Amino acid sequence: MAIERIYLDWNATAPLLGCARDAMIEALSLPGNPSSVHAEGRSARTLVEQARRDVGALVGASSATVTFTASATEAANHLLSPVYRMGRSAISIGRLYVSAIEHPAIRAGGRFAADRVSEIAVKSSGVIDLDALAAHLAEHDTTSGLPLVALMLVNNETGIVQPITEAAAIVHKHGGLLVVDAVQAAGRLPVSIDALGADFLIISAHKIGGPKGIGAVIARGETLMPEPLVRGGGQEKGHRAGTENVAASAGFGAAARLMADGLEARNAAIAARRDRLEAAMAQHAPDLLIYGRSEQRVANTSFFHLPGLKAETGQIAFDLEGVALSAGAACSSGKVGASHVLTAMGEDAATGALRLSLGPSTTDAEVDRAIEVFAKVAGRRKLSGQAA
Ligand code: PLP
Repeated sequence: MAIERIYLDWNATAPLLGCARDAMIEALSLPGNPSSVHAEGRSARTLVEQARRDVGALVGASSATVTFTASATEAANHLLSPVYRMGRSAISIGRLYVSAIEHPAIRAGGRFAADRVSEIAVKSSGVIDLDALAAHLAEHDTTSGLPLVALMLVNNETGIVQPITEAAAIVHKHGGLLVVDAVQAAGRLPVSIDALGADFLIISAHKIGGPKGIGAVIARGETLMPEPLVRGGGQEKGHRAGTENVAASAGFGAAARLMADGLEARNAAIAARRDRLEAAMAQHAPDLLIYGRSEQRVANTSFFHLPGLKAETGQIAFDLEGVALSAGAACSSGKVGASHVLTAMGEDAATGALRLSLGPSTTDAEVDRAIEVFAKVAGRRKLSGQAA
């Protein structure tokens, strides 16, 4: 008999929402190119522009500031550019500053050479060190161009909410630009580009129940934009060439519309389940170390280290019992590497940590089962007295 699967890896990707699937299926049957002026083209354009309004609304932005990309990773590569444009004027960026806990999409540095990227330290709590940010920017050589800073709003491994509003004040005091990776925050926290003080936001459809393979750049205004990454036709107002992915944008928009609603009630239910899970796990394994528990975290994430259990072994043990979780971030190769987030926090990253991440449709029964499996895995570790 096949075992029932329990999906607790929502930070890696969220299952596709029914409304997103329906919107995509409808869009797939439209024959037109959104750039065509005939009725077929206009129908496709209508869907893309509705999606742009819905995606903008999720982060308090107008549709005119939303550019669709093929992923959040592409959005990061677009924004991490040494040249920006304001009308016909080129604006040079001298150096890129990224925190040590950024996702590889940001840490890779986009279009900057490695020697033009500086790393901002994080505190042992997992929170970006704002004093370190201020010290770096105070030393920035403005003759080389403006400083560009890229920080995440919510860390994908720990779930810790980062002090972006304060960071934005520091960046702007030094005349810099701030790109905020809001991939793990959108749909989980109220996100407003204005309230954050970000110049640009990045979000991804597949983390909010939309399709994989579409992301968005949201700009604070319409005048300042990076030199395009994908050149060609004039789609997306010349910021991102290529015929729009009509079905993916329709799915993205439908998911954004749903996730913009009822955030508080959804979070309360998810937090109650996550907190119950953590309390039970700590009871079964008093030596359990849960990262970020005393910091502000998103409601759905639990990142923990179980002494004597290698994360990779733990992940396999959970998987065999039907529970999908992650050993740190989902790595493209499927291999578990040492977590750069733990390393940045000064933790011993060698044995690694496990991440359970819940979603709006996670049930109490699924949490019960995850607790049972945890107890089994933790118990086995105790019995053998070494890594299970
Ligand atoms: N930024 C963060 C914080 C993420 O968690 C992810 C996905 O794991 C990305 C960026 C990249 O998103 P995408 O898969 O759309 O390229």
